Amino acid sequence: MTAPLLSIDNLSRDYALRGAGGTIRSLRAVDGVSLDVAPGSIFAVVGESGCGKSTLARIVMALDRPTGGTVRLGGDDLFALSPKALARKRRDFQMVFQDPYGSLNPRHSVGRIVAEPLHLLDDAPKGRDRAVLVARALEDVGLPAQAAERYPHEFSGGQRQRIAIARALITNPKLVVADEAVSALDLSIQAQILRLILSLRDRHGLTVLFITHNIGVVDEIADRVGVMRAGRLVETGTVREVLDHPREDYTRTLLAAEPTLAALGQRRRRA
Ligand code: ADP
Ligand code: MG
Repeated sequence: MTAPLLSIDNLSRDYALRGAGGTIRSLRAVDGVSLDVAPGSIFAVVGESGCGKSTLARIVMALDRPTGGTVRLGGDDLFALSPKALARKRRDFQMVFQDPYGSLNPRHSVGRIVAEPLHLLDDAPKGRDRAVLVARALEDVGLPAQAAERYPHEFSGGQRQRIAIARALITNPKLVVADEAVSALDLSIQAQILRLILSLRDRHGLTVLFITHNIGVVDEIADRVGVMRAGRLVETGTVREVLDHPREDYTRTLLAAEPTLAALGQRRRRA
């Protein structure tokens, strides 16, 4: 097997919670998580609300630090890098969030929003060069280049998620972390965005950590899946292994609870 692009080893994150009377107890939001993601593949992390998915995502994005364990991206241990080296590395990993309304600044043009991560590049392009990159990123996600002149409120939820994806892609990252990136969308729009992510993976060799509470979308998008419960990965394998032959009752419960996009006749069968 080729070396993983993303390798998470024994990762934990404790939060200190202040209880009644000033008592402090510790909550282990992520508990000994290990997973590897091969370059050009899509790894889904699925689990109920509150199981620690977003905490994991924030640590992979180096927006938070782990209590223990390591995150390696392209061989570099993110939390062992100097602040300067980490800042340089940030162009290689970008995030797409759930809320297609809250994650885009309503006062900024789409062009300005999409261009924002360019400051991470050493030689941030300006003027015409920058406009070309923005136009290319918009077209890459199926939006017209002229969308750059417009404002977020002029777009639908699905189009806004395309804008968020264009922003994530503009630094030409190796890894995109998508945290509930389709969860706020109607089912038919979810299917379109999932197809877009698959097409970006195929066209650019993008690697995706796809985080969702909905096991119903995992079949559409992922190569491998890790099932998370109360901070731990309880089951990991290929999508076919985990969805067709779940080993854990918890996984079966998730499967029983979630409607799949397949129910809409949009199932994307894979070998
Ligand atoms: P998910 O994304 O799977 O819904 P989260 O990672 O957001 O789960 O949360 C996991 C657990 O950690 C939850 O119990 C949540 O309340 C707790 N938690 C998340 N962020 C914080 C924080 N900043 N301080 C304290 N507890 C937190
Ligand atoms: Mg979350």
